[in-house]
Amino acid sequence: RTAPPRPHVVLVASPGAGHLIPMAELARRLVAHHGLAATLVTFADLSARPDAHSAVFSSLRDAGVATAVLPAVPLDDLPADARLETVLLELIGRSVPHLRALLRDISSAAPLAALVPDFFVAVTLPLAAELGVPAYIFFPCNLTTLSLMRSAVELNDGVASGGEFRDLPDALQLPGGVLLRREDYGDGFRSSKEPVYAHLIEEGRRYRAAAGFLVNTFYDMEPGDAEELKTLAARSTFPLAYPVGPLIRPSSDEDAVSPCIEWLDRQPTGSVVYVSFGSAGSLSVEQTAELAAGLEDSGHRFLWVVRMPSLDGIDSATGTIHGNDKDDPLAWLPEGFVERTSGRGLAVAAWAPQVRVLSHPATAAFVSHCGWNSTLESVASGVPMVAWPLYAEQGANAAVLSESVGVALRPRAARADGLMAWEEIAAAVREVMGGEEKGRAVRRRAGDLQRAAARACAPGGSSWQVLEEVAGKWKAAAAARH
Ligand code: UDP
Repeated sequence: RTAPPRPHVVLVASPGAGHLIPMAELARRLVAHHGLAATLVTFADLSARPDAHSAVFSSLRDAGVATAVLPAVPLDDLPADARLETVLLELIGRSVPHLRALLRDISSAAPLAALVPDFFVAVTLPLAAELGVPAYIFFPCNLTTLSLMRSAVELNDGVASGGEFRDLPDALQLPGGVLLRREDYGDGFRSSKEPVYAHLIEEGRRYRAAAGFLVNTFYDMEPGDAEELKTLAARSTFPLAYPVGPLIRPSSDEDAVSPCIEWLDRQPTGSVVYVSFGSAGSLSVEQTAELAAGLEDSGHRFLWVVRMPSLDGIDSATGTIHGNDKDDPLAWLPEGFVERTSGRGLAVAAWAPQVRVLSHPATAAFVSHCGWNSTLESVASGVPMVAWPLYAEQGANAAVLSESVGVALRPRAARADGLMAWEEIAAAVREVMGGEEKGRAVRRRAGDLQRAAARACAPGGSSWQVLEEVAGKWKAAAAARH
């Protein structure tokens, strides 16, 4: 007799590596540790690269996680100048019939355990109701951001009085005790006139139909928010948020052959500041020059992932470019910077194998845009941060990391135009690397949090237990239906 098939969970990732990678890790854990079968589904790729998800998918082959890409859908009727989020929403909406067909296929071979769409594809939640299976939303940001989404919808829909965040009299008091300043609310939440606002509200409204959230964080990182969301769930005001992280991309063998790692191998232990603004963050030419001067003045070793500067408002013909190749981000660095810092600094164009870099013994601190994946990777490696948020929900992340989690220093631009001056940058780098007060506190906290993160994900740890509990519910429900 063959064993009956395991109950099957289907995870649906919206386009974007930042969503796909933690979901791949979630799927891997559900299969490896919690007795489920899993398929990770994503959408036909919008970019010209048809293989954007293939590296992630192939890493799952040995983990026993099935993968699927939904068939492409026609989008040529959309105006050529349609906003990216409009195109994405159309792509997702038009793919729903394909997802329905896939779910029916899977459920004919094994009992469906649950549907887990990520936070941008809540439009697929009704499919779970159609099939009579529970739906849980995967939330790749932190609990604070989830609370902000909830508050924004309540304000907008008149459940709470106000209208929108900017009508509130003061800075927002977050459950974890942080006072969130207006400038840190995040894109879309500063004003209902921002185009993305309506999308966020619509998506946030759909969340109420979910049975729960699986959130890429862990209890010890955000205990205040976790407790507040538990209280709301107990009153049936909002679905329960389960902290199941940190879910982090595993480092691959290919990462080790990068010039960044070879360079780090030659640096003393705990001597290097890693500087990166994620997969999309870029600085102005002027800000890039200040950062270069700040790193140079700090006297510390550094590994800087330099991206093309944002050229808004700058005439690149009269800008400070000194090289010939305008497509090379390094050509935008100040004249002579690379030569002057060659003994102790490495500037690389566009990309570094970040997980490997952060876990390298030479790496001591991270100047970061505070994207949530980068943050968790830093925490998992015990590396304290200098918080330099740029867009999306990064301001809220920076506020939480510096004010309640205590793992980041946050320099504030003194200039009215928001430019961070080289003196402020150099001071923050010196403090995080060797400062006796604030620096010492964040370094110690980073070590404590690293151990807490490892405990959370180990057998019996908080995130492990939460996943075991959720998987248990799914399996019981699947058994009851059969
Ligand atoms: N990343 C990387 N090398 C880089 C920049 C980014 O490997 O040079 C990875 C990083 O490890 C993280 C992801 O890309 O997993 C960025 O996600 P995050 O949420 O931090 O920021 P986003 O790029 O979405 O703003």
